[in-house]
Amino acid sequence: MSKRYCVVTYGCQMNEWDSEVMAGIVEEMGYTRADRPAAADLVLVNTCCVRQTAENKVWGLLGSLGRLKRLRPEMIIAVTGCMPQQEGVAAEIRRRFPFVDLVIGTYNRHELAGLLRRVEEEGPLVAVQPEACCIPEGLPVKRESRIRAWVPVMYGCNNFCAYCVVPYVRGRERSRRPEDVVREVEGLAAAGYREVVLLGQNVNAYGRGLSPRVTFADLLEMVNGMEGLWRIRYTTSHPRDFDERLVETVARLEKVCENFHLPVQAGSDRILKLMRRGYTRDGYLNLVQQIRRAVPGASITTDIMVGFPGETEEDFAATLELVREAGFDQAFTFVYNRRRGTPAASLPDQVPEEVKSRRCQELIALQQSIGLERNRAEEGKVHEVLVEGPSATDPAKLTGRTRTNKTVVFRGGAGLAGKLVTVRITAAHLTYLEGEVVQNECRA
Ligand code: SAH
Ligand code: SF4
Repeated sequence: MSKRYCVVTYGCQMNEWDSEVMAGIVEEMGYTRADRPAAADLVLVNTCCVRQTAENKVWGLLGSLGRLKRLRPEMIIAVTGCMPQQEGVAAEIRRRFPFVDLVIGTYNRHELAGLLRRVEEEGPLVAVQPEACCIPEGLPVKRESRIRAWVPVMYGCNNFCAYCVVPYVRGRERSRRPEDVVREVEGLAAAGYREVVLLGQNVNAYGRGLSPRVTFADLLEMVNGMEGLWRIRYTTSHPRDFDERLVETVARLEKVCENFHLPVQAGSDRILKLMRRGYTRDGYLNLVQQIRRAVPGASITTDIMVGFPGETEEDFAATLELVREAGFDQAFTFVYNRRRGTPAASLPDQVPEEVKSRRCQELIALQQSIGLERNRAEEGKVHEVLVEGPSATDPAKLTGRTRTNKTVVFRGGAGLAGKLVTVRITAAHLTYLEGEVVQNECRA
């Protein structure tokens, strides 16, 4: 019987993509998938360190994997992703959890096959290179979905926002060559994928350093021409680099979806400056207005952080005010977390935990009322929905997404998965819409 593997993933879409690559690599080695660590011969823990909560989950999981390994000592446990890339953490993992066989940094994950073979022959191993050597192409990928595919277009980040650990663990910005991206998307479209999500920490910086120079707008034009592909999404875009040409390009290209994820982080100019975000409150709100003019019906979503060092009640009130003015469809809200090695970690005036959590609750309550109101405005409207499959909460129904990236739940046959249908929205909830199919539109 073949050996079995299980990947446990924390963090962002880039990590989900990395996990799909690792699954591809080990499947090529002959492993087959197990649905949980207890049933696996190889467990890959793909970690995130953007916030403390993500790290805590990993420490907890490693504890329980230790108990499994005592029962089955031949099992291989590997820790990968962003955590081991932080200074001293690989050693800490080996010290606290000596049963971990393999620790892999973000720049070594494409070497997984060779590293696993070495572990089998030589025993425990740490592979954490300090810098990226190259952009590996042509890796095997075992994709989770058969409809939507992640396609990284750039790796790393040069922004060094004061609170953020990403530039330290993912390295300097580097863009894939446009011909490599286009070839991958062509292959996906030919294999029946209908939607691609172009990934990067700051996709609108795409192409810096490439020669000849290609911009993200150019890349969107190239991908938009792909036959068989229906939808193009991208994440994350940085408000500072979202220029007029990009707004115009997104508005014009028929496959690029009308959803803008623009993390604002804070609404006070003083805090934005301390965060080193490179835009002002007015600049951000102007961008929102520009988008609303150019792309009617667009959804705008965001990330917001409360409790950055030195954030006063007045600063926080400015964030609430911005949230009211921008009218976000959805916001991912975070409590600021001190990250070792980042400039903000040594700023004075760290905000007490209870103040942070009170502000976060207030922000969530405000955004929920705005989000619900925006979803209610969808009632009676008709949307094109790309059907994903049975709804997780009600398997008798289907789930899919609008171009604006809202989840819609509706009745329909399982055969509609992967198809586009026209749905009239009948009821709005905080996190999803309900609807009824008005037309089965089987585009080939
Ligand atoms: N590249 C993306 C964000 C990556 S991290 C961008 O620039 O928007 C995802 C989100 O995590 C960020 O938008 C931010 O809101 C949050 N985040 C990052 N560092 C954090 C920290 N130290 N504490 C709390 N939240 C943080
Ligand atoms: Fe972090 Fe800022 Fe880079 Fe986003 S843009 S990954 S928040 S440093």
